[in-house]
Amino acid sequence: MDSTSNENTPASRVKAADGISVRCWGTRGSIPSPGPDTTRYGGNTTCLEVCGADQRIIFDAGSGIRPLGLDIVEKGPNAIHIFLTHFHWDHIQGFPFFSPLYDPEDSIKVIGPKQKDIDVQNLFAGQMGPIYFPVPFSVVAAVMEFEHLNEGSYEVGEFELDVMRVRHPSFVIGYRIKVAGRVICFIPDNELDGTVYDLEPGFDKRIVDFVGDADLLIHDSMYTEVEYPKRLGWGHSTFEQSLRLAKEGGVKRLLFSHHDPTRTDYEVDALVAKMREAAARSGSGLEVGAAMEGIDYTLERSK
Ligand SMILES: [Zn+2]
Ligand SMILES: [Zn+2]
Repeated sequence: MDSTSNENTPASRVKAADGISVRCWGTRGSIPSPGPDTTRYGGNTTCLEVCGADQRIIFDAGSGIRPLGLDIVEKGPNAIHIFLTHFHWDHIQGFPFFSPLYDPEDSIKVIGPKQKDIDVQNLFAGQMGPIYFPVPFSVVAAVMEFEHLNEGSYEVGEFELDVMRVRHPSFVIGYRIKVAGRVICFIPDNELDGTVYDLEPGFDKRIVDFVGDADLLIHDSMYTEVEYPKRLGWGHSTFEQSLRLAKEGGVKRLLFSHHDPTRTDYEVDALVAKMREAAARSGSGLEVGAAMEGIDYTLERSK
């Protein structure tokens, strides 16, 4: 990991030719929050793109997937994989506005965790019912396919994905993505210190192993330590908790994400500065920052 460009914009972007490009198209939690206070870290809800040599894969379909869809229309490719962590609004609300849906040349595979007996197609397409949205799912022109992924692993092109159930209301997963000798972990919604979840024992060790030695970890850091006591059981972590996880897992670079909708850019800056000091004090060599919309985080291929 080796470079971060602050100058890329969706219009000027050139795919990293020799590296793996990780772009956050949405970093906000809960609800889009555009406005002058959030221009730098971004107001769109969760969406991540990982580009390898000749393929891109997408994680979550928050409002950030809308501009990503325009980029795909312009540059391709037309075979698209969308992996979902779960079905809360802020992770699926951009889907009806994803332009490739309406192009018969496109094929879109949506992979995510089944919720009890409700399958992914019903969960994902249900938000396009007439009460919620004017355009019915039947208008979708792309070739659609849906698949369940609640545990285990999945391979697509040069990407190998492992998933793990995390602490968040409903059945929610995080992803560990292996590509070109690098590891990226994407866990946008997860309460590290929560106690109210119906999970198998041993979660605290499993999650440390899951993120172990990752080159890049993007983790839920919605709250401050002051805010958290009033949000117990809401399914989110603090900046400090994410930092602890990254240190325990030997992660190389941590990006705080799922920013609270009320968090201003200046507040995020101040929290990141504090976390950088804490990381430096620990002598771990861990690099920390806050996920920023529209930025490419590039990792060099190690194989
Ligand atoms: Zn969320
Ligand atoms: Zn959620």
